[in-house]
Amino acid sequence: MAGEFDLIRGHFARDAIPRSEVELGIGDDAAIIRIADDREMVVSVDTLIQDVHFPADATADSVGHKALAVNLSDMAAMGAEPVWATLAIALPAPDEDWLAAFMSGFNDLAKEHGVSLVGGDTTRGPLSMSVQIGGQLPKGTAVRRSGAKPGDLIGVTGTLGDAAAGLDLHRQGISNHLTDRLHRPTPRVQAGLALRPWTNAMIDLSDGLISDLNHILEASSVGAELDVSALPLSPELTAHCVDNGAIKLALSGGDDYELCFTASEGNRASIEQALSVCETTVTWIGRIGEGAGLRLSGAQGSLLESLRGYDHFHEA
Ligand code: ADP
Ligand code: MG
Repeated sequence: MAGEFDLIRGHFARDAIPRSEVELGIGDDAAIIRIADDREMVVSVDTLIQDVHFPADATADSVGHKALAVNLSDMAAMGAEPVWATLAIALPAPDEDWLAAFMSGFNDLAKEHGVSLVGGDTTRGPLSMSVQIGGQLPKGTAVRRSGAKPGDLIGVTGTLGDAAAGLDLHRQGISNHLTDRLHRPTPRVQAGLALRPWTNAMIDLSDGLISDLNHILEASSVGAELDVSALPLSPELTAHCVDNGAIKLALSGGDDYELCFTASEGNRASIEQALSVCETTVTWIGRIGEGAGLRLSGAQGSLLESLRGYDHFHEA
């Protein structure tokens, strides 16, 4: 087994991106990373398990993309510049074709964001992978969940609910824009960096808007009012859904990896300008208030009633 895995290790080192911060990458017992005196390192890890986080019939390329994308999204949510990643992968068998496709999905995204793969671990087992990522930012500038203030506007990037609809479609054997949003999420790294100077709190939307916004509210000890009629819905989602389906998915569907943030009204124009530079749309969907909890406004009472059945809504 060791021999096969030695061979496979070639796949990891081959396309690793050199960076000045990486003193030593793949090949030794550990990597060595430089960090400047005036910077902080931001670290996160996420695990993807087959049949839990991606379906068994997902393409290897899309799994490689997603494994890195979900971690890049965490860097984006802190306002950090991603620098390096490590990859611990368990493979049921040393399938080199599968691995080559997986690494092509991983490396394309790594290249796009200048992330250097500096190490990892390869073992035999049910298919799963953990990617750890390291980023940097000037000391004291990270955007935490805990900074939201009463009166702040609540903004989101992109459109919401697409990935949840994509999961439904994937199960029906359909491939389109919505399934693409599920399998190949776009981490909002540039948007996160652009938002950093202007925002008080930020989170990436992995579990769904209501659930994730509630993390900001709890960490910041504030409440919020969400204008349900303002939610950004893609034309593809609207076309796919009937009745209030699109709004429900936008409120509680997971896996979109958009950014949700709060900022004072005075920073609104700066944010719109900063995000237009990185070609990311922003939608203002509500406001932070004094009281605890999340209130939904701007839609029919029957919609709000129907949402009570949603798991995430109960967390509100
Ligand atoms: P050790 O036994 O000292 O942990 P390994 O033989 O597991 O070292 O790994 C040798 C080198 O290959 C190390 O630099 C390790 O980080 C790298 N490596 C192993 N697996 C992976 C992987 N899946 N992705 C990236 N690098 C890997
Ligand atoms: Mg090892």
